[in-house]
Amino acid sequence: MAGFEWHLTDELEAIREAGLWRELRRVDSVEANRITIEGREYLNFSSNDYLGLAGHPALGQAAKEAVEKFGVGSGASRLVCGSLGPHHELEAALADWLGAESALVFSSGFAAAQGALTSLLGQGDVVILDKKAHASMIDAAKLSGATLRVFRHNDLENLEQRLQWAAEQGGRVLVATESIFSMDGDSPDLTALIELKERYGAWLMLDEAHALGCHGEGGSGLAKRLAKRVEIRMGTLGKAVGAAGGFICGSRGLVELLVNKARSFIFSTAPSPAVSAAAFAGVKLVRGEKGELLREQLWQRVEELRRGVEALGWSIPAEPSAILPLIVGGEAKALAMMGQLREAGLFIPAIRYPTVARNEARLRVTVSASRSSDDFQALLEALARYEI
Ligand SMILES: *Cc1c(COP(=O)(O)O)cnc(C)c1O
Repeated sequence: MAGFEWHLTDELEAIREAGLWRELRRVDSVEANRITIEGREYLNFSSNDYLGLAGHPALGQAAKEAVEKFGVGSGASRLVCGSLGPHHELEAALADWLGAESALVFSSGFAAAQGALTSLLGQGDVVILDKKAHASMIDAAKLSGATLRVFRHNDLENLEQRLQWAAEQGGRVLVATESIFSMDGDSPDLTALIELKERYGAWLMLDEAHALGCHGEGGSGLAKRLAKRVEIRMGTLGKAVGAAGGFICGSRGLVELLVNKARSFIFSTAPSPAVSAAAFAGVKLVRGEKGELLREQLWQRVEELRRGVEALGWSIPAEPSAILPLIVGGEAKALAMMGQLREAGLFIPAIRYPTVARNEARLRVTVSASRSSDDFQALLEALARYEI
């Protein structure tokens, strides 16, 4: 035991020294853009609940009804006896919303990425990832046994070089990227990317985690109009949809293959019916008139914040999104700023390595449709104290 504890101490010491220490904070309540942590209330600029649906009564009501009907736990994996009504309803709604033949729900987006990549690729194949692709796809790619290659962020020329190399390897080739990047809020040129992968006969896996709910017709993301040309689309139900869980959508064959091969689906208890029922209610809201209204508000708010932050001298991404990264640079500096902003009553997370590259630490501000202008004033006043 002593050796084990020494090992832990050494590891933890190294993390601390690198300015990369992380710890959990107990959150006592989250509502309407306010968060209470250890007894103090802050303005919350950190949530991915972009439309403010996580606390919507329709989702709560749907969850309650599902609990009454099915209980809290689903009792087993989907293939044993856990494939309940709410899962099937949700999958049908997702496929319809996203213009796909079929959809399959996983307990998380992380599990969805893992199931998809490991079912589709193996040794002798190549997966080509955007440099900033989410950890769920990186880990899934590694686990698949395929050879991993990385292309420069959103750089299609660099991707083409990788595709040329991959074409010579003789296996299957899959490109994995995001439609809206989680830490930068930017996107690839999707049409050009799709033309490129088609020219090389490669497959595309597109993570729409941060586009869903915010972008595209009915909040359906950036790829619906290109649905027939994207082999695998994944998303999460825990961000703008306001619930939890993840999914893959695509052809019927894709979903059938996952049901037969995806270990993170087969060997995992089905999502709670309450959570899937809430996600179904969330999807209905997102697609409908309420969603349109919320998106209109969201984009107004995004513009407002972009103007304010730009006026203070920060550089902002060319394309608007609900994610606004304020790039600070050093890990220690970002942490210090986060601490000072907390003192001022603002909760904005410092995002550091390994979530982003070293020396690209940032404050990641997110915008929600339910945000008020007064909150932005408080944020801009606090940011005005910093030299950029
Ligand atoms: C959050 C996120 C995921 C994982 O989804 P979960 O449902 O939270 O596991 C996957 N990809 C991206 C880009 C994400 O931001």
